[in-house]
Amino acid sequence: MKLLVPVKRVIDFNVKVRVKADQTGVETANVKMSMNPFDEIAVEEAVRLKEQGKATEVIAVSIGPAQASETIRTALAMGADRGILIKVDGEIEPLAVAKLLKAVVDAEKPDMVITGKQAIDDDANQTGQMLAALLGWGQGTFAHKLEMNDGAALITREIDGGLQTVSVKLPAVMTTDLRLNEPRYASLPNIMKAKKKPIEEKSAADYGVDVTPRLSVVKVSEPPRRSGGVKVKTVTEFLDKLAEAGAI
Ligand code: AMP
Repeated sequence: MKLLVPVKRVIDFNVKVRVKADQTGVETANVKMSMNPFDEIAVEEAVRLKEQGKATEVIAVSIGPAQASETIRTALAMGADRGILIKVDGEIEPLAVAKLLKAVVDAEKPDMVITGKQAIDDDANQTGQMLAALLGWGQGTFAHKLEMNDGAALITREIDGGLQTVSVKLPAVMTTDLRLNEPRYASLPNIMKAKKKPIEEKSAADYGVDVTPRLSVVKVSEPPRRSGGVKVKTVTEFLDKLAEAGAI
């Protein structure tokens, strides 16, 4: 079984994101970038399948600037076998990503694509679903647990108020949720080994995909600042304050 894992380079989740002064987007210059956390979970799941002898090859693919090769290297250090970098500068929307991933799937013929459920920068939660639709494949989104079962993937999904288990015939797309696993830290020897693993470089034009954005961002703004709290002496005063604020 061959696995394809798309990994996106995003602002590190620990960074306090700042909106640009002209409100056209967020500051990315001199900001720490890392692999999207849900994609780390996807790489971990794929590598575990390989370690269990259920997968034969794990390919990490990233679409983005030249520095996205660092994100691929992280996936290689975690245990992926090789990488594909599709160089695109500037913003790229989920539909264009899904079209490029479809082209990679057509060329590589994996049995499963494991994406994150969402990228923490755009919070789109669209790419995996769009890819499944473009491929005409089944999909199991928000995966909490995965078991392979005779040519099908048994995917337990996180849904409102509980868990749902679906059986999806391969080839299929799965998107990872937070509790699927705990991604490993790459060890130093594995980081060194990853330097020797191959990363193929491509462009969107190589796949004949037009990545021109279809949406234009009107404005990006900070959430309103929270006003400070006040101390009250009695429950009656507290209730009066709530009534004043229209909360009761
Ligand atoms: P989104 O639909 O943008 O929230 O992203 C969902 C998932 O699609 C991510 O967790 C990644 O697995 C994948 N993805 C989105 N954009 C990219 C990208 N530029 N390169 C690689 N994978 C991506």
